[in-house]
Amino acid sequence: MKRFTCSGCSLLCDDIIVKTDGLYVTEVIGACLKGKERFDLVSAQNRITKPMVRKDGELKQVSWDEAYEKATEIIKSSSNALLYGFSNVTCEAQEAGMKLAEKVNGFIDSNASICQGKFLNKARNLGINLTTITEIINKGDLIILWGANPAETIPRLLNKVLFSRGKFRMTGREIKTLVIIDPIKTASFRVMGVRDLPLIIETNKDIDLIRTLKEECCSADSVPPEGVAGIDQSDLKRLLLHLTGAENGVIILGQGVIQPHPDYDLVEELLELLQMINERQVKGRISLLLMGGHFNMAGFDHVALSVYGDFGKLEFKNNQMVKTEDTLISKIEKDDFDSTIVVGTDPIAHLPQSLSSKLANKPLILIDNHSTTTSHIADVVFPTSITGIENGGLVYRLDQVPIELQKIVNPPNNLPSDEKLLTELIKSLNQGGSK
Ligand code: SF4
Repeated sequence: MKRFTCSGCSLLCDDIIVKTDGLYVTEVIGACLKGKERFDLVSAQNRITKPMVRKDGELKQVSWDEAYEKATEIIKSSSNALLYGFSNVTCEAQEAGMKLAEKVNGFIDSNASICQGKFLNKARNLGINLTTITEIINKGDLIILWGANPAETIPRLLNKVLFSRGKFRMTGREIKTLVIIDPIKTASFRVMGVRDLPLIIETNKDIDLIRTLKEECCSADSVPPEGVAGIDQSDLKRLLLHLTGAENGVIILGQGVIQPHPDYDLVEELLELLQMINERQVKGRISLLLMGGHFNMAGFDHVALSVYGDFGKLEFKNNQMVKTEDTLISKIEKDDFDSTIVVGTDPIAHLPQSLSSKLANKPLILIDNHSTTTSHIADVVFPTSITGIENGGLVYRLDQVPIELQKIVNPPNNLPSDEKLLTELIKSLNQGGSK
């Protein structure tokens, strides 16, 4: 038995005991259900272990050479490829994906750009602190979940940050106040105690709460008597006192806060509120933790920044990076692409139908380890090994800390890692067909 890191989500728990007979994972101890499911993927029924190409409307198993030939044919007849996904692969694979985008003069974007990446870029511009899990465990006294439901998406996050006893505090949960702001009573509300603050906010009224907090920032006495966004005056006062009085507070932001709105930028207003509180704080500060779900959602920006000096999406023309205002969504909306290479994600299931139907109407190459809605419409499917179990590599935890994943067992059929496959695809393009 040995200790390994779980790649079931972006928390990357490094305390998972795994027993293996050399061929299979036979026992997993310490992982949550989601983590256990990650290990179960190795022998899952929907595992893909052979490359496939669509022929006469149906996906058929083919040789690796034939799959590379078909993929090369699609890429060579495309002049405006879209590369998307890359949050469920290592940083090495992300870099190989960027090299492929550079080679084919494509546009590359990760899942993070429609999720936590939005915050990251703005927080950097405003100079807001991003905190780490260790920092919250050791020093935290206020945890605010805003539109975030870690009990179901990052199951062991609250175990670590809320219930752990910190190095610099003799007490743990007893002195940590939990505030949850959400329009629905999620599973995370179940861990709340008497001194915590559950705030059920009216749907799409986060902006009203933020603006009121900005106005009343340092004067809890002047909060509106009628409350705001469904939160009454007394709870608003308590929220303000927590925000302005915490020594080491953190706001954990989830998907619930990032839905775009045509009339205002919620993310920007929330970050401005944080900046305002921190400027006026006498003894403490409030920082941020971004709750991306995929295990390497944070890595893409780090790789893009270190290799190309920019973060977020990248666009290439004449094999050079060019500035772009586009996003994955705008590219699809404008129909500004003629083929797609999807890596480790399922956009056909996750994007709105108006966008996914556009993706489905153009040639699509999928690199993934199990069948999904996207694999059902793909023209070429390349299977790969499972990162964190069948291959190792560098990934970034949700708090931007780099972690090296280890290989535990060999993949079936000697499947390549995502990095190897993308590198072979580049080679195949250079050679004009088979690898
Ligand atoms: S919380 Fe995430 S990383 Fe930790 S065991 Fe569960 S799935 Fe794995």
